[in-house]
Amino acid sequence: MSEPIRATKGSTDIGPRDPARDAENPDVLVPPSTDKGLVPNLRFSFADAHMNLQDGGWSREVTQRELPIATEMAGVNMRLKTGGVRELHWHKQAEWSIMLAGNARITAVDNDGKNFVADIASGDLWYFPAGIPHSIQGLGPDGCEFLLAFPDGAFSESSTFLLSEVFARTPKDVLATNFDVPESAFDRIPKEQLFIFEAPVPGPVESDAIASPAGSVRQSMILRAADQKAASLPGGTVRIADTRNFPIATEVAAAIIEVAPRSMREIHWHPNADEWQYYLSGTGRMTVFASQDSSRTFDFRAGDVGYVPKSMSHYVQNTGDSPLKFLELFRSPRFEDVSLNQWLALTPAQLVKSHLGLDQSTIDHLSKNKKPIV
Ligand code: MN
Ligand code: MN
Repeated sequence: MSEPIRATKGSTDIGPRDPARDAENPDVLVPPSTDKGLVPNLRFSFADAHMNLQDGGWSREVTQRELPIATEMAGVNMRLKTGGVRELHWHKQAEWSIMLAGNARITAVDNDGKNFVADIASGDLWYFPAGIPHSIQGLGPDGCEFLLAFPDGAFSESSTFLLSEVFARTPKDVLATNFDVPESAFDRIPKEQLFIFEAPVPGPVESDAIASPAGSVRQSMILRAADQKAASLPGGTVRIADTRNFPIATEVAAAIIEVAPRSMREIHWHPNADEWQYYLSGTGRMTVFASQDSSRTFDFRAGDVGYVPKSMSHYVQNTGDSPLKFLELFRSPRFEDVSLNQWLALTPAQLVKSHLGLDQSTIDHLSKNKKPIV
C-alpha cells in the first residue's frame, strides 16, 4: 500500500508543534512560533523571474517590480555563451558584478577617455560607475554566468542605453556629420537592438588593449577573488568588498558570506542601508525582526534573492549539509553591521541583567569581539 496523499506533506495539521514532523518535511517552511505580525514578503527567486532568451545567452532580473520592498537594489542574472556579447551600453546606475562561473572579457571607457579591458574569472568582482559605457563578452571554454547588482530598485535591463539604438534613433545625416563619413557608412546598422548576440571570440586580452592618449583608468574596475581577503572563523568565512579595498565601488558595498553546516550568520543589523541578498549555494533560513513586535522567517536556496530593510535585525542559519554561500549587498560606500552580542557585551552587565534576567555565566559568555558567524 502506498502512503495516503497529503496535500502539503503533513503540514495541514494545525496543532501543537511537532519537531519530528517538521524534520520529515524539510521542504515545508514551518515558521518558528516566535514569528508574529505583518512583515512584508522579503524573498523572490530568480527561478520565478522572466527569462529573456537570446542566441548568445540569456538574462533575467529581480527588481522592485518582482519584490516591491527592494527599493534600494535590483539584480540581474545573466549567461553568455562563448563569444556571446552583452551589447555595448551604459545606464544611469552603477553596476556591481560577481562572476559565478566561467570567463568573460569586459571593456569600458570613462569620461576622461581612459580605457579599461580585463578578463574575469569565477569569483572576481567588477564595477562600472554610473553612466560609464561598457561591454561583457563570454570567453571559452563555455562562456560565463554572472550576477549584476544596481543600486536602484527601479533599474531594468530593458531600459539601458544600447549602442545599436543610439545609432538607429539618430538621423543618418547627423551620424555622418558626427563621424565625418558619408551617410552610406551607416547603411548596415541594425534596425533593432542587439542586447545579447553572438560574435567572434576575441584573441588574448593583450590583443584587445588599445593605447588611449589619456591612459588607462585611474582606479581598477575589478577586484580579483584572490584579493578579497577572507576573515576565517570557526563556522565559515566573511569577505568584505567596499571602498576600503575596492575604491571604485562607491555606490555598492558587499559581504561574501560562507556559513558551514550547523553554523549561523549571527544576529545583527545594518545601520546604513537596506541589505539585498543573493544566495549562491546551499540552503538557509532567515528570521527578520521588523520592530512593532513582528518578525517573519523565510527559507532560501541557491538563486533566491532576500531583502532586509535597514536596521531590521536578522540571522541566517545554514539548514543543509553543505556550505551556505550568499551575498549581502548595500547601497553604500561601506559595509557596516551592528552585532547584538557585541552590543550587550560592551553594555554595563547590571543594565543588561535588569532587562533580560540573564545570569552571570551568560553575561560572562558575551563576546566583546564581533563574531559574524557562530
Ligand atoms: Mn551594464
Ligand atoms: Mn545582514
